[in-house]
Amino acid sequence: DHIANQIAAGEVVERPASVIKELVENSLDANAAFVDIEVRQSGGFLRVTDDGDGMGSDDVLLCIERHATSKIRDEKQLSALSTLGFRGEALPSIASVSWMVILSRQQDQELGTRAEIRHGVLRSVHQDGCPRGTTVEVRHLFGNVPARRKFLKSVRTEMYHVEEVVRNLALAHQHVGFTLKIEGRTVLNLLPDTDVELRVREIFQYQGPLLPIPPQPADAESTMAVEGYLLLPETAPAGRAQLRLLVNGRPVQDGMLRHAVNEGLQGFLMKGYRPAGVLLLTIAPDQVDVNVHPAKREVRFRQANVVHGMVAGQVRRAMNDYQQ
Ligand code: ADP
Ligand code: MG
Repeated sequence: DHIANQIAAGEVVERPASVIKELVENSLDANAAFVDIEVRQSGGFLRVTDDGDGMGSDDVLLCIERHATSKIRDEKQLSALSTLGFRGEALPSIASVSWMVILSRQQDQELGTRAEIRHGVLRSVHQDGCPRGTTVEVRHLFGNVPARRKFLKSVRTEMYHVEEVVRNLALAHQHVGFTLKIEGRTVLNLLPDTDVELRVREIFQYQGPLLPIPPQPADAESTMAVEGYLLLPETAPAGRAQLRLLVNGRPVQDGMLRHAVNEGLQGFLMKGYRPAGVLLLTIAPDQVDVNVHPAKREVRFRQANVVHGMVAGQVRRAMNDYQQ
């Protein structure tokens, strides 16, 4: 089981940013209104604190066990595992390649639970006072996996990926407040309950004109909807102002969506303009496969041409309205 956790970790937990992503997604799943993220020691220390539902003491112990009974018996079988799904494996995986502390309390509990896990082995668990919600602290990431450590890029690059993960999650969850501190410096400080426009301005650090792409009023048959904001700067947007695509809240790289935005802007494009901003696509789960690879950012649409047409059409309509 321990070996299986480490192998899963190799797939799910690529770098500090993947740890942050998994931990913050858990916080969001637990209905957090605020999520505080801290990174220190060049990514060697990671901490995510939320004010969400928390876990009871049983849950705290359960969550570091693999959900599915593993059928893996020896290391040879492990090499054939690259296509497994990884639901319910994030915490056990991270715990297997780090020293982890979980501190959690549910609303109706007087005391919380504090568990210490080292390389997947539970070292201690006891009751402890703590605010409602959950804190997960990860230290010595990949301390027991030197091969994985070698694949890490420069600190600067790793921290850039951490910021990107948080920016994308913050765009998809504008009702949640986020702070991100790296080496004691506040990199992001986003209040909850801002609307999408405000969040876009904060994330892109942009005060110029925005093209709103309003959501279409949903009809009974619609299985997809798109909304978003595009930056319309007087000059070409700065390097960091990219086009961020989120499908059902998940950041993706998708050439087809990118192409659809470009097509929607055909005839309006200013010289040198590269689309920048955010596009949030909501689509029925049976119309999209987001599990092409757990750690990659690809999606496969059932009816790519329909999605393309809708996105291009919405962007074109928005631009038409904007110019009147
Ligand atoms: P998954 O999210 O796919 O269920 P994880 O390994 O990420 O798997 O988490 C395991 C379980 O631990 C979750 O299903 C949840 O019950 C619990 N959990 C993890 N993080 C939190 C959190 N921040 N707040 C409340 N519960 C959590
Ligand atoms: Mg999870």
